[in-house]
Amino acid sequence: MSVLGKYKVIRSATHPEHVFSFEGALFSFSEFFSQNKEYIVFPGFCDVHVHFREPGFSYKETIKSGSLSAARGGYTAVCTMPNLNPTPDSAEHLKMQTDIIERDSVINVYPYATITVNQAGNELSDMAAMANEAIAFSDDGRGVQSDDMMRAAMLKAKSLGKMIVAHCEVNSLLKGGYIHDGEYARANNHRGICSASEYEQIARDIELVKETGCAYHVCHISTKESVELIRQAKNQGVDITCETGPHYLVLDDSDLQEHGRFKMNPPLRSKEDREALIEGILDGTIDMIATDHAPHSAEEKSKGLEKSAFGIVGLETAFPVLYTKLVKTGVITLERLVDLLCINPRKRFGIPLGCDFTVWETDTEFTVDPNEFLSLGKATPFENEKLFGRCVLTVCNGKAVYSNKINNNI
Ligand SMILES: [Zn+2]
Repeated sequence: MSVLGKYKVIRSATHPEHVFSFEGALFSFSEFFSQNKEYIVFPGFCDVHVHFREPGFSYKETIKSGSLSAARGGYTAVCTMPNLNPTPDSAEHLKMQTDIIERDSVINVYPYATITVNQAGNELSDMAAMANEAIAFSDDGRGVQSDDMMRAAMLKAKSLGKMIVAHCEVNSLLKGGYIHDGEYARANNHRGICSASEYEQIARDIELVKETGCAYHVCHISTKESVELIRQAKNQGVDITCETGPHYLVLDDSDLQEHGRFKMNPPLRSKEDREALIEGILDGTIDMIATDHAPHSAEEKSKGLEKSAFGIVGLETAFPVLYTKLVKTGVITLERLVDLLCINPRKRFGIPLGCDFTVWETDTEFTVDPNEFLSLGKATPFENEKLFGRCVLTVCNGKAVYSNKINNNI
């Protein structure tokens, strides 16, 4: 942990002339902060699950726009998922992405490599050739259906000292569903996605982790059964961690509206699931919060719940949502939120914290306006919500990468 500690409250009015020094870099308060306001400085947030869409889908998001969006959300490190074109399933394909990252990213971006060739689940990717460049291996966007394939992947990852990061989803249980198989789906004639499609694959993988000893992390858990399975596995000493998303903690299927901005995979589940996720946050079963920032074009998100693409953006609303709905309401402490957004993901994924910090004005309420997002994706269930927390400044590697004072021309 840096000299900063978990967070620090500063008041510019007391020292308007003060120069803010952080691990060797110097910043003048007066450059960035107004008088008579309170600010909180955090270590740079870290999101292990984002989709920056390059190469292949730059109309949805680019490394540039995605990393600017992350910086505006207080993030200085993210891990990018491999559902790209081409997918990073060989050293050559992965290099296409790392070249763009090197050229365009304003923060630290760590790419995943795929588990299987083209994420098709039939053949292992060239994991050894990508082990140095990849943060871990994942087929995010789809589950690895074959037990044998997942076992082989875990053994390979273990031999390379790498983690398997799993999107758990049993295809045969999906049956064309697109929102949670619950009250809202039944009342409004929608096809549901059952909870078992998620937790059955987690249960399978836990057995494989016990067998292989591979380090394993579960993406975006959404069901109460998933929380319980992971809780039990942790009690048994299994090398497992998991994440959930801000939306699963503060929304459930009773909040659904007939709009694509409420559609993501996994879907918003029931109230009981949401409450179990909160329990998992409180007792440490859930290690970290990741946004699953998944931008699409306005057109792709304009087709209602049934026909819109799966995925919402999250980087620019994560902290305000969690701060407003979990910290201000007393569900968790601010210190715990910093663990979930920064400390724990960095620890588990071995992502260093350099001269990386973010400064927030937390006593200001604002209305979420997706037009202000730096992400190309604008679909969020939090549109028009009134939230507390506005990012004033984000510094990555000693360099200001976002400031609300100078817009984005840093
Ligand atoms: Zn996923």
